[in-house]
Amino acid sequence: MDWQGGRRGDVEDRRGGGLIPIAGGGGVVLTVLALIGYFVFGIDPSTVMNAGSQLQNQSPTAQQGTATGTCPQGDEACDFSNVIHTSANDTWQSLFDAAGKPYHPSTIVLYSQGTQTGCGFGQSAMGPFYCPADERVYLDLDFFHTMDTDLGAKGDFAKAYVIAHEVGHHVQNLLGTSAAVQREEQGLSERGANALSVKLELQADCYAGVWANTSNQKQHWIQAGDIDEALGAANAVGDDTLQRKAQGRVVPDSFTHGSAAQRVQWFKTGFSSGDPASCDTFRS
Ligand SMILES: [Zn+2]
Repeated sequence: MDWQGGRRGDVEDRRGGGLIPIAGGGGVVLTVLALIGYFVFGIDPSTVMNAGSQLQNQSPTAQQGTATGTCPQGDEACDFSNVIHTSANDTWQSLFDAAGKPYHPSTIVLYSQGTQTGCGFGQSAMGPFYCPADERVYLDLDFFHTMDTDLGAKGDFAKAYVIAHEVGHHVQNLLGTSAAVQREEQGLSERGANALSVKLELQADCYAGVWANTSNQKQHWIQAGDIDEALGAANAVGDDTLQRKAQGRVVPDSFTHGSAAQRVQWFKTGFSSGDPASCDTFRS
């Protein structure tokens, strides 16, 4: 991916100083290892809050060093995240403009280990996530390393897909889709609520595909192999792939993000159409 020429916006950098565990550090590490890969991007805010209160009980923490602005010189992962996040917001701004709908961009927050969010305490083990309450995308850049090593999802476009997926949740938030799903989930069994969550997640995958198509028309930055990298990432974070890895078996009723095949299919749908209207995962 030829991303270096892309526009930069602001990044909220909370990595400086980071999180200072005062007690129970070992417990936190264990929790992180146990959860990694399970909450792979896109998380129910209530889960964030539950996990947060657990973490806070185990380990009092302090957060320092928030700065909003540009990335430190030579910090390529920060710069890359900035370019992709900015491009995703620019893309959706233009799509909303064309549809006559108001849009405002999300904010990207880089943090290490854990941070306070409008949805409760967030931690790296959850993977990247979007918080609707504060309209922020939370990203611990270590996740990119996890993608390379543990998930086998290599390449810059695989990472771009992850960020574009999170901005897809911001779009759902602005359109009222996430709130409607949350309301509907209240009256449902766990199985029914999971099924709805899958539709929401697959739509965010489709929106990531729409971003890939639309941004490429302007930037011409997709290179040979990039789409395969995104599809490889979608495949790697499929619920069936992750469950098989974690527990050796697959329980489709417990899926919250969709199978590998579904995630691949919906990214492709968005990418080939470039049209958000093609992302009606709720109807199909
Ligand atoms: Zn998601």
